[in-house]
Amino acid sequence: AAPSRKSLTIGLIPADGIGREVIPAARDAIVAVKSELPDLKFIDLLAGWETFTRTGTALPRDTVQILKEECDCALFGSVSSPSRKVAGYSSPIVALRKELDLYANIRPVVSVQDTSRVDLIVVRENTECLYVKEENLIQTEKGKEARATRLITERASSRIGRIGFELAKARPRKLLTIIHKSNVLSVTDGLFRESVRGVPALSDGKYDDVNIEEQLVDSAVYRLFREPQIFDVMVAPNLYGDIISDAAAALVGSLGVIPSINAGDNFVMGEPVHGSAPDIAGKGIANPVASIRSAALMLRHLGYVSAADKIDKAVNDTLAPAKLLTPDLGGTASTTQVTEHIMGLIKEQY
Ligand code: ATP
Ligand code: MG
Repeated sequence: AAPSRKSLTIGLIPADGIGREVIPAARDAIVAVKSELPDLKFIDLLAGWETFTRTGTALPRDTVQILKEECDCALFGSVSSPSRKVAGYSSPIVALRKELDLYANIRPVVSVQDTSRVDLIVVRENTECLYVKEENLIQTEKGKEARATRLITERASSRIGRIGFELAKARPRKLLTIIHKSNVLSVTDGLFRESVRGVPALSDGKYDDVNIEEQLVDSAVYRLFREPQIFDVMVAPNLYGDIISDAAAALVGSLGVIPSINAGDNFVMGEPVHGSAPDIAGKGIANPVASIRSAALMLRHLGYVSAADKIDKAVNDTLAPAKLLTPDLGGTASTTQVTEHIMGLIKEQY
């Protein structure tokens, strides 16, 4: 059953580069399925490098406040990062994940043409592991020595595990693979593994039909390249998840087709996996698919499954025949042409 929200307010944060070209496409896709959604409202919000150069902050307080107080969800484009370190600048996306407690990074990776080859979801813990960034460097008699803290908690591991089970349950194969390295890091990765494995016992039989497997991270990467079709949903601590999700992305050809969401208990933010692509920004040829799929993924996460299905079907039916593709996929079509084609295929479903 669809959720009972009376209205759906969506923050739009195109930020920099091709974000400004692809976020409008994602907005169009949501509008195209509006008959299945509550009253829609969009709010345009500022963030990013250009905002920093104009206002001195990459993430204005206003943006955070409006997201927290008025929005149910948001779509984020991409930020240009300065090539050197700039005083006062820090990434708005990292800050937003923290401010909104978006603890799960969810990234489905599906082959463009032959979906039987790769069709998996990487679920990455987004708040701890080595990313607590407690590093220090000391000078010893034998030279410099650097140490980093790796934090793994039962709470964060269970909650990311629950997201993994939830996603696996909704898929035909219902397979969840836990990624870890507990043969070496038996305490930290041991706790991650145990906490994820402990989720079904705390969930009243809800996940009894989910199959659980485990893979050591090194062999998981090997198998991901050799036989990606063995994976369905993969759940991993922050660092392994970061590496695996980029590795998985490399399997399907273009960054321009891979969506993601950053999800917490109270908020979800769609974000194409690609960056601001300065080499093609402003040319009207950015692939809008990653961004449109991010919108669908966000709607799916909020419970609007059939609206999301319609968007995904229109995207797949555009990509599969390989007739109308942007240059990153070997075609000659523009952002607008691909977007309009997808919109047409959404309308045909009503
Ligand atoms: P940033 O620092 O913002 O990440 P980048 O130079 O690393 O910028 P990315 O956006 O990460 O660029 O993209 C890497 C490559 O993939 C670029 O050549 C870019 O043009 C291409 N690319 C990324 N996204 C898309 C897209 N949506 N459509 C077409 N090509 C894309
Ligand atoms: Mg990049």
